[in-house]
Amino acid sequence: MYILERDALGRLWDVLKRQGFTIIGPTLDQQAIVYSEIDSADDLPAGWTDEQKAGTYRLKRRQDQACFGYASGPVSWKKFLFLPSLKLWHGRRKGKDIQIEKGKKEKPKLAFVGVRSCDLHAIGIQDKVFLKGQFVDSHYQCRREDVVVVAVNCTEPGGTCFCVSLQTGPKVTAGFDLSLTEIIDKKHHYFLVETGSPKGEKFLEALPHREAQETEKDEGKKLMEDARRKMGRTFDMANIKELLYQNAEHPRWDEVAQRCLSCANCTLVCPTCFCSNVEDVTDLTGEYVERWRRWDSCFNPEFSYIHGGQVRHTTKGRYRQWMTHKLASWIDQFGSSGCVGCGRCITWCPVGIDITEEVKCIRGSPPAAEEGPFKKENDR
Ligand code: SF4
Ligand code: SF4
Repeated sequence: MYILERDALGRLWDVLKRQGFTIIGPTLDQQAIVYSEIDSADDLPAGWTDEQKAGTYRLKRRQDQACFGYASGPVSWKKFLFLPSLKLWHGRRKGKDIQIEKGKKEKPKLAFVGVRSCDLHAIGIQDKVFLKGQFVDSHYQCRREDVVVVAVNCTEPGGTCFCVSLQTGPKVTAGFDLSLTEIIDKKHHYFLVETGSPKGEKFLEALPHREAQETEKDEGKKLMEDARRKMGRTFDMANIKELLYQNAEHPRWDEVAQRCLSCANCTLVCPTCFCSNVEDVTDLTGEYVERWRRWDSCFNPEFSYIHGGQVRHTTKGRYRQWMTHKLASWIDQFGSSGCVGCGRCITWCPVGIDITEEVKCIRGSPPAAEEGPFKKENDR
């Protein structure tokens, strides 16, 4: 383990830029901490944190100048690998035929700075979906190939986080090039650095660093222990697949359907959800056509439209489909749960529906006191 001083963090940007990387990292935008292209370490949300609970997200000032002292925001890394909208091809009429030109496959050199363990697991899940099955998504493959990951060990889990229950955090264990643990004491602001690949070792060589002392390593361990304890929620994954398969007609599905707006927010913020649709658009002359792939959601009624009707035409059916896929049939399809415990679907659900709470109720526990903007008495 090594030490990188806070003052030297900016050098990471110089090193990555020199090698042609576009750097994506956390920054403030529209009253949230989001991942976006950032030009320097000065764009990090130093001194900011967030407060999260079901249906609520608020930015708050911190007492210190931590650069990574907050939990996951509304944007996940899937936005940069599995693009929200992508032109697959365009075509022009040539006599009776259409001459088709495929959309360009982009192969950007992306450096992701500030990736948390839960999100690293989510990237691993999407890798499985898009790259390791029977069919490979060549667009995802091109964007994923050159990605460099500078991970951050999470010291500030949010009120809706439950990665510990899913064993997906808070410490990163694999899939990174460099990992940082941010440490601030009375006089010293620094990062404990670990390398996770030969590429990461090269980056570190180009940065001013020194060996970490035992006391500094202990401080890093202590922060991880604290983060485990501060987890906002717990989630019992025992026999989850059997539980959901055996409870397709549980009365809780009707109850949640009374509150769910079928707005699709939960699927759009989820770092593993991968549904998309394909749309053809022509110009007014009918001479030119484009085919686009766009993110879609199993909460949209049209998503299950097949040959004259929707397969899931009720909110109950759609909520049940989403949760059962995420936590049960995903295991049959891809060998793991589709949830990494990031808590985004709870925070960004406008009515504060909480996946951990829904599972508890299906297990037979009484519902907990509700939090968020729509408490029980306001339920419609
Ligand atoms: S289901 Fe919710 S908690 Fe699980 S990965 Fe998706 S957004 Fe995160
Ligand atoms: S669970 Fe919440 S976020 Fe998801 S569709 Fe229903 S209302 Fe929207």
